[in-house]
Amino acid sequence: MADIIQLLPDHVANQIAAGEVVQRPASVVKELLENAIDAEAACIKLIVKDGGKALIQVVDDGLGMSVTDARLSFERHATSKIKNAEDLFQLRTKGFRGEALASIAAIAHVEMQTRPEHSETGTRIRIEGSKLMDQSVVVPPKGTSMAVKNLFFNIPARRNFLKSNQVEFRHILDEFHRVALAHPSIAFYLYHNGSELYNLPKTVFKQRIAHVFGGKINERLVRVQEDTQVLKISGYICKPEFAKKSRGEQFFFVNQRFIKSPYLHHAVVAAFEGLIKPDKYPGYFLCLEVDPSSIDINIHPTKTEIKFDDEHTLYALLRSAVKHSLGQFNVAPALDFEQDQNLETPYAYKNKEAAFPRISVDSGFNPFKEGAPLSSARSKYQASKVEGWEQMFEGLQSGQDANTNFSSLTFESDSITGSIFEPADDVSDMVSKTFQMRRKFIVTTIRSGMLVIDQNRAHQRVLYEKFLNNMTVTKATSQQLLFPLLLSFSKADIAVLSEINDSLQHIGFMFNIQKDGHIQITGLPLHVQEPNVEMVLKQLISDYTSDEMVEEGFLQANVLSKALCKSLAVKTGVVLDLASQTALVNDLFACKENRVSPFNKCIYITITESEIDKKFL
Ligand code: ADP
Ligand code: MG
Repeated sequence: MADIIQLLPDHVANQIAAGEVVQRPASVVKELLENAIDAEAACIKLIVKDGGKALIQVVDDGLGMSVTDARLSFERHATSKIKNAEDLFQLRTKGFRGEALASIAAIAHVEMQTRPEHSETGTRIRIEGSKLMDQSVVVPPKGTSMAVKNLFFNIPARRNFLKSNQVEFRHILDEFHRVALAHPSIAFYLYHNGSELYNLPKTVFKQRIAHVFGGKINERLVRVQEDTQVLKISGYICKPEFAKKSRGEQFFFVNQRFIKSPYLHHAVVAAFEGLIKPDKYPGYFLCLEVDPSSIDINIHPTKTEIKFDDEHTLYALLRSAVKHSLGQFNVAPALDFEQDQNLETPYAYKNKEAAFPRISVDSGFNPFKEGAPLSSARSKYQASKVEGWEQMFEGLQSGQDANTNFSSLTFESDSITGSIFEPADDVSDMVSKTFQMRRKFIVTTIRSGMLVIDQNRAHQRVLYEKFLNNMTVTKATSQQLLFPLLLSFSKADIAVLSEINDSLQHIGFMFNIQKDGHIQITGLPLHVQEPNVEMVLKQLISDYTSDEMVEEGFLQANVLSKALCKSLAVKTGVVLDLASQTALVNDLFACKENRVSPFNKCIYITITESEIDKKFL
């Protein structure tokens, strides 16, 4: 048989390696930023165009490269950072595999300019798809500039696989945040499509967190500090009351490298146990310092996963350090557990001792006695009945916590509901009588039987269609605020708000973005109450930017309407008065689609008379 094995040419090998190292523009950002850090830069600028698809450029003021190094840096396995395998276990640098530049150059157009401090001239190199196009002598500023254009130009399948510019940019932002947080002593700048998004001066960790995530974070953070022989922990956790519904502000840095570790994450979550609700995520920014020889960073090409020698000890130390901080700052008791209201017993009622039933008999009452005061006897009976009725509900009537809304319990009997009053069989006809069941369902009758409507899903549908209509057809009116509301948001959040500005104005949010990172709100949609604005907007931003929503390629109006209806619809557990029930049911059946919620969940079920009849057989 003829020999069939051959060595792959370098450019093919590089393309294959690139598949592992470069998944998307954000991977390039990570590699280039890390190279700049390894080059001891004091100031690093990241310039991005079109979510990184058109341009990713990193400019540093670091060590630069000699002419030979500049050329060699693009070869595979070319690195200045390790010399032999032992060095792998004493790593103090971000890079070491020597494959990032080779990989990037294999799948993009790269232009590098570099000059070491004590050299008068520098080098400019252009490479396209591993091919050297040009090398010349130039006189750039000290340091290195790497510009990567047209990523995946020669791998159309990969290029087509990229998400929208918006999504890709968000991944870039994530990488930028991680690197910037890990290195507060380096100044960072970020420009996207010509505008400056971040200008982060050299500072300390806590300040850097505040600069990246917005000013208010300062009040939210609690310090964590623990020094042991195997591990030094430092950093901050967010107080439990600031736990978020979405992941995001969760950062582990091991020896100044951002890493993902579900195991260590679990340790932190375990420390928060009982302090935050299960559907929320604690925020943390934790830096671990360990002996480099006790970890292996080389288990994954992107170097975001690490193998620790003694994970169990780290877990225990981390958990106790976080617990200690939570206790020390006395943040634990200031908590308000939101329990399932369906299971709640009103306090006055809960603390009451069970009383024996008493029967009071009017022993002197003789109905046959001539001239017996029949009416007074009856009224006495009625009075005691009312008294007993009141006792039954003692403690249950305090406002919203009342367990059942009795005004809404209107049962109909067949004899009262003549057929003329009965709604037509078609559920889209107006509904006349309703009652609320378990603070969750609205029950109403139709000619063929009854309807059980999920109140939360029904309201989601109603709001969804309303918002969608406001954003695309008719602008909603806005309730003007007497005193404008000033809220502070992070730069990234503000970028999102300005992106969705038009849609928000259409549904009634009136605001202007101020230079200092504050948002001044002057008007609100009818459904949004002033105290909830911040929560609603933050939830909206987090939903809008969640991969799930954006990556499915939904239209902006659709994504926003979904996000808003989710946070604004009446929840299960809320008591609705009769008028609201009727309005909700009528609004629901005025919707274009009334069977499924915007999240494709069934809104109501029907139970037909014959089904009920069968149960009575
Ligand atoms: P690694 O970082 O794993 O060594 P890279 O392919 O990222 O591999 O880079 C190869 C080499 O090029 C580095 O080891 C370093 O010597 C040099 N280099 C890359 N970027 C820079 C930079 N911004 N400044 C100075 N030297 C750089
Ligand atoms: Mg590198």
